[in-house]
Amino acid sequence: MGQWLEGRTLAKKIKEKVKEEVLQIKKERNEVPGLAAVLVGDNKASQVYVGMKQRTCERLGIFSEILKFKADLDPAELKRNIQQLNDRDQIDGILVQEPLPSSFSSHEVATTIQPEKDVDGLNPCSLGNLLRVESGLRPCTPLGIMELLKSQSIEIKGKEVVIIGRSLLVGKPLAAMMTNAHGTVTLCHSRTKTLPQVASRADILVAAMGRGAFVTPDFVKKGAVVIDVGINHLTDKEKVKELFPDPEKRLADIDKKGYTLIGDVMPAAIDKSSMLTPVPGGVGPLTVALLMHNTLKAYKSRRMI
Ligand code: NAP
Repeated sequence: MGQWLEGRTLAKKIKEKVKEEVLQIKKERNEVPGLAAVLVGDNKASQVYVGMKQRTCERLGIFSEILKFKADLDPAELKRNIQQLNDRDQIDGILVQEPLPSSFSSHEVATTIQPEKDVDGLNPCSLGNLLRVESGLRPCTPLGIMELLKSQSIEIKGKEVVIIGRSLLVGKPLAAMMTNAHGTVTLCHSRTKTLPQVASRADILVAAMGRGAFVTPDFVKKGAVVIDVGINHLTDKEKVKELFPDPEKRLADIDKKGYTLIGDVMPAAIDKSSMLTPVPGGVGPLTVALLMHNTLKAYKSRRMI
């Protein structure tokens, strides 16, 4: 049986380091890095994520502000607001929380954010720098995965890496990062044929699909490191009992909140893997920590520190 690979400890370490540096900057320069989050519409999950990011900023001494707009905002008005944030010296990082209402072009929004302030790393310039193996801001979730592997001294060079999910947010940039780290990468998606066979070639398997418990132990090569990025709501108590050998906490979650969070990988895959990230508590906490890291990085590189 493998080990559960928690992300919380590393996330805490990254945030503590950011906090120390922010404190030092405040002492030496009497200013702090700043992050602006833009929220359009009333998506409940987005409100929770943005609130969590703001609270983390506060804890680390980073200035933060949230710009909230109604879903029927004119896209040109959103663009003007992002441009104003680009022009404000106090703001080092800008993030526009996805998903945006359908009237907005996510590409246009990402392109409007100045690359120097693109803490989500999704601007074409940031993604281009990643492909070109040049320095720049990198997307937080894939960066968190790379940091997690590094923290465990898991070598990527020469390894078979299979990623399920080709989104711009996770799968594609992660494939580039793994390639840059000399892994042999296979990027899978909904049209991939014989997915379990392809996945079971992996020394490092990453599931980022958004399909609860889709990845069964059959997908996993014995001894593989498995990274579960998925975040899915499960409301079915019978399914919980099937998936978890000790379901009590999960069942209590459902009684309290109406759902429990599960990943894309069946927990039983722990028996075949050498390491598996839990959901919650695996990749999730690292995404926020790396956003803080990126905000500090943007502050420093804008001031050439
Ligand atoms: P997304 O944009 O919906 O992309 C999902 C990807 O999975 C697509 O490439 C899709 O293929 C592929 N896919 C879906 N069903 C599949 C199937 N049956 N077989 C093979 N591939 C399949 O999602 P995302 O934004 O990347 O997020 C993925 C998951 O990660 C979600 O649960 C999300 O909540 C979670 N997430 C977590 C964090 C974190 O911090 N932990 C951060 C970001 C996302 P096609 O391209 O062919 O449609």
